[in-house]
Amino acid sequence: MKICRFNEDRLGVVVDGTIRDITDIQTEIRSKARYDMLGDAVIAALPEYRDRMEAAAAAAPGIAVEDVSLLPPIARQCKTMAAPVNYEAHVAEMAAQPHITGEDKGPHRPPGIQNQGIFLKANSAVVGPGEGVAIRFPDRRNDHEVEFVIIIGKTGSRIKKEDAMEYVAGYTLGLDMTVRGVEDRSFRKSCDGYAPVGPWMVTADEIPDPSAVPFTVHLNGNLQQDAHTKDLIFDVPRLIEFASEFYTIHPGDYLFTGSPPGVSEVHPGDVMHCACDLIGEMSVTVRAAE
Ligand code: MN
Repeated sequence: MKICRFNEDRLGVVVDGTIRDITDIQTEIRSKARYDMLGDAVIAALPEYRDRMEAAAAAAPGIAVEDVSLLPPIARQCKTMAAPVNYEAHVAEMAAQPHITGEDKGPHRPPGIQNQGIFLKANSAVVGPGEGVAIRFPDRRNDHEVEFVIIIGKTGSRIKKEDAMEYVAGYTLGLDMTVRGVEDRSFRKSCDGYAPVGPWMVTADEIPDPSAVPFTVHLNGNLQQDAHTKDLIFDVPRLIEFASEFYTIHPGDYLFTGSPPGVSEVHPGDVMHCACDLIGEMSVTVRAAE
């Protein structure tokens, strides 16, 4: 099942390429949820409500995808996690450009994801594809990093990788937008709008092997990142194990799995088009911040 959010906080299911509005079910789920719950009520309720959601979607009229503004698939994630340095070829391309990463001013981190850990992007950086990215520092280098993104399905801590797939609600695509420089990753990657996510969540049953997912981003029509999750250094189960050693994970949490090679600079007016046959596609427009 493909679950989206659109327009003014509406919930949809994508059926045969059209959006079916099931906002009434979202309203019911939220009315039963504690306000102070950690995580997203709809994702937490998915196992219980899935059959009803599919039935409601089948009976609803279709709305064309191009006629809505897509929001991020999760309304209230508890946190947005991201893996750095998780493809060897991306590690190599960044090591070859120390003037961009700031490493020419002296190495500031030991190499390897096992040493650098998972970082957090501000939840306020997350936007839907319809919202676009506003470049806050146009005189600095701003890069796209297209990434395969895990959406957590239930609360857990210190999860073993053998059990990790039970904690996956689904997957989506994300752009880990980045201001290059010497500041801490979390600071540079958390500007407003620097985490477009979408076009929707595909439930985990539709991607039984998350190590077999090709995906791409084109910048203004030119292929920039042509990736495959088989190349992840820490695969999906290991990333969940690693992140949950430090954080309790909650339903709706995003976990960006890391950038493949091919990152490049973006400027106002550019269009980033992300695509994955198993998920869908989204175009994200770059503009200047006000
Ligand atoms: Mn990244």
